[in-house]
Amino acid sequence: MASALSDKLSRLVKEMRGQARITEDNVQDMLREVRMALLEADVALPVVRDFIARVKDKAMGQEVLGSLSPGQALVGIVSRELAATMGQGISDINLQAQPPAVILMAGLQGAGKTTTTAKLAKHLIEKRKKKVLTVSGDVYRPAAIEQLKTVTKQAGAEWFPSTPDQKPADIARAALDYAKRQYFDVLLVDTAGRLAIDEVLMREIKELHAILNPVETLFVVDAMQGQDAVNTAKAFKEALPLTGIILTKLDGDSRGGAALSVRQITGAPIKFAGVSEKIDGLEVFDAERHAGRILG
Ligand code: GDP
Repeated sequence: MASALSDKLSRLVKEMRGQARITEDNVQDMLREVRMALLEADVALPVVRDFIARVKDKAMGQEVLGSLSPGQALVGIVSRELAATMGQGISDINLQAQPPAVILMAGLQGAGKTTTTAKLAKHLIEKRKKKVLTVSGDVYRPAAIEQLKTVTKQAGAEWFPSTPDQKPADIARAALDYAKRQYFDVLLVDTAGRLAIDEVLMREIKELHAILNPVETLFVVDAMQGQDAVNTAKAFKEALPLTGIILTKLDGDSRGGAALSVRQITGAPIKFAGVSEKIDGLEVFDAERHAGRILG
């Protein structure tokens, strides 16, 4: 990542090399470059401000001022802070629960919840050797239930039927009961999304959370959402104790600044990244690599 970073910042590092001392002006110049890069990557403004303030605090300390190569020390601080903010080294899905371990999928319509539910099912079957059941609580769009059925089949998991005339809470109870009786290891619950946050949606997903007591509550967010990801993340964090994030559509051409925003707003680790429409297009999120992408 240091190399990706230095593309942007190497000029400043070079300028600083010849100087006997680092000045506050140098630090400001450097931070201005970093700020620009983050904004270009669509990181939300308040998140950029926070990040820059943290880096500045560290940069103005002895570590940089007394360093032999102040420019490089500063680059190091930026790199480490970015990767740390996005949570390098965070692990896989937590399944430590009395089976079935329930995973609740939350997010706006179109974020990629249904697709990601199937991707996760496949991951848990193949990599963790689990017996996986999926169910859709999206009673507002009959097509959504059918879509989950189709992709669940592709994943090699079992699909629990639901219909638009049922209440999501009843579907959740029935699926949980079935999963227990049939000794499933994991129950993946896809939920209804909306185009924008609304009260009814939030009340409903809170109720599902209370019924299901999930071991993972995953917030699925579209990397292309850019600045808007912040408001969505805030609303879901207020409604639910999020345990992880899945960033979808990273195969698109966004610089993926949403990762930094969403991570900072929710405090939850980014566990996976969606990298294609296909069922196997799911990767463990790599914060260092992503930091390089954000900085361009
Ligand atoms: P939901 O409304 O949140 O359930 O979203 P869907 O799972 O239906 O996904 C919405 C659209 O995004 C579909 O066309 C998916 O194929 C697509 N999609 C989901 N994840 C990814 C991804 O990681 N990459 C790409 N390119 N497309 C994705």
